Amino acid sequence: MDERTARREIVRVGELLYERSYVVSSDGNVSVRLDDGRILATPTQTNKGRMTEDALALTDIEGKPLSDRKASSELAMHLLIYRERPEINAVCHAHPPHGSAFAVAGLAIDEPILSEVILTLGCVPLAAYGTPSTDELTEAMLPLVKHHNALLMANHGAVAYGADVWQAFDRLETLEHTAKITILARALGGASNLSPDAIEKLINVREKAGYLDERARCQSCNYLHETGITCATADGVGTMSGAPPRVATNGAASAGTNGAGKISLTREDLVELLSQAVNLKH
Ligand SMILES: [Zn+2]
Repeated sequence: MDERTARREIVRVGELLYERSYVVSSDGNVSVRLDDGRILATPTQTNKGRMTEDALALTDIEGKPLSDRKASSELAMHLLIYRERPEINAVCHAHPPHGSAFAVAGLAIDEPILSEVILTLGCVPLAAYGTPSTDELTEAMLPLVKHHNALLMANHGAVAYGADVWQAFDRLETLEHTAKITILARALGGASNLSPDAIEKLINVREKAGYLDERARCQSCNYLHETGITCATADGVGTMSGAPPRVATNGAASAGTNGAGKISLTREDLVELLSQAVNLKH
């Protein structure tokens, strides 16, 4: 996207974030990776509903300022996503109330209850708490970024990303909408989950249609446990190198190895390994 269009669209997205109560005060931040690789980001301490196009800050991919405007203090979160996901060109971070309620309650948005959400967003995991604008936050997000298009951050809020700023915004909105429906369904006595068979079909449809690729099959999510589908993210534990996932032939996502030297893990095993990896860094 060229700089002029990006300035206009970031301001428009900022207005929508504010109008829809996904941010208040100076919460949240939005950025776009321009065609030439520079990052155009919302400025620090600014209400996103009242930004002007000339208030936005330009940086390089390392966050080095390329204009006299100061970018959001959360820019590191955006840069991490751009580095991990070359096809992503926009990031939207906000504190939408229902999604943030999940983050505050220590819950992921990963119940297989809405077919469209499995098709277009996939599950939204919860990254461990990290102090905003520090390495703690980006380290907690790192193992999850490759395999999801939106994350919750514990006791903080949500971030979504996409090929352009509208896809990033739409994913954030789907996250919030899903959280809201889940809360309402729980108030009515609880949502009923889609069957493993239905989930498997949806995953096949989304990969065939190109909505989400195989990287979105992640064992840290709730979706896959009872289906015959597994993922190869275990290959990348520690490095999350993003090796292409495979479909299991044994119909179960249990811990074990196969002839190709690849391993599959249960969700609990993966979570345990990830927490060990994170703890090692401290
Ligand atoms: Zn925030």
